[in-house]
Amino acid sequence: MNKHWMNKRVTVTGGAGFLGQHLVKRLERQGAQVFVPRRRDYDLTSLDACLRCLLEHPADLLIHGAAYYGGIGINQTEPGRLYYENLVLGANLMEAARLTKVGKVVNIGTACSYPGYLEGHLKEEDLWAGPCHASVVNYGLTKKMLAVQGLAYKRQYGLDSIHLILTNLYGPGDSYNPDRSHVVAALVRKWVEADLAKAPSIEVWGTGKPVREFIYVEDCADAILLAAEKYNDVSLPLNIGTGIGTSIRELVETINSVTGYSGQLIWNTDKPDGAMMKVLDVSRMSNALGGWSPPTNLRDGLSKTIAWYRANKSQADEKW
Ligand code: GDP
Repeated sequence: MNKHWMNKRVTVTGGAGFLGQHLVKRLERQGAQVFVPRRRDYDLTSLDACLRCLLEHPADLLIHGAAYYGGIGINQTEPGRLYYENLVLGANLMEAARLTKVGKVVNIGTACSYPGYLEGHLKEEDLWAGPCHASVVNYGLTKKMLAVQGLAYKRQYGLDSIHLILTNLYGPGDSYNPDRSHVVAALVRKWVEADLAKAPSIEVWGTGKPVREFIYVEDCADAILLAAEKYNDVSLPLNIGTGIGTSIRELVETINSVTGYSGQLIWNTDKPDGAMMKVLDVSRMSNALGGWSPPTNLRDGLSKTIAWYRANKSQADEKW
């Protein structure tokens, strides 16, 4: 068991959420003193609340994993809220972190921050090589600003931080609300419900051609904690992913094969495809994390996720 954070004070924003719960569980196992600010106690969109949080709970490590986010649907319906909440949350938390002298900040970013119209795998050096994809710009840019703030705050105030760029996560505890969910959770719910209702067809969005990369949430939590320990270069973000591209059509076929569903697929091309390709280059990740790569393949991760969703459906559907 890695004891790097033993007895260290670690604050995890978003620590009760999908990814955050897995981070907290691991940190506690390592012997860290973990604090998770809850929205009802600290509305972190306000600088006062960020300051109060970090003064009341001084942190050797602050993992900023909180975000108001979701899949391609919510980017269309709530672009304003996505923009405002994530922008001020990140900016105020970093300001409070430097004022309260946090030891190190780990900002959790998103592949939506990358240029949306590049070909090939996305490399850290390309973060500024073009505009974000229009379908996710409102969210992607706010997280990208944290990479700018991290560098500025290191230069002016000496605050240590890193910026991690995560690919699409999936797994138990995700949002299964169709207004908010990303593609894997959305499809898992549709497939399980079609199976329960013996439905003859399922609607899938777009053309099936876009290519995405999917990382199992537990693997992602392991990678984040390794990066928090080993990666210190504020001048370049670090990608966290599998590096493996899967088309939406291939994803659908894998879910069909795991569930045994054999009904008809209806591709609703009125729904957006989004970026045609969003897959990270993970060579720097592998070097920085001592050769680590995510152990869970897509089929196994989907099997675990579908089994969990079947067993926890009503609770999962109500969550958010
Ligand atoms: P993105 O990775 O930011 O584009 O967000 P999503 O995970 O929401 O969508 C990824 C791709 O899956 C897009 O091309 C969607 O059109 C496609 N997709 C297919 N069916 C669905 C669905 O039911 N829900 C969502 N959210 N996406 C879907």
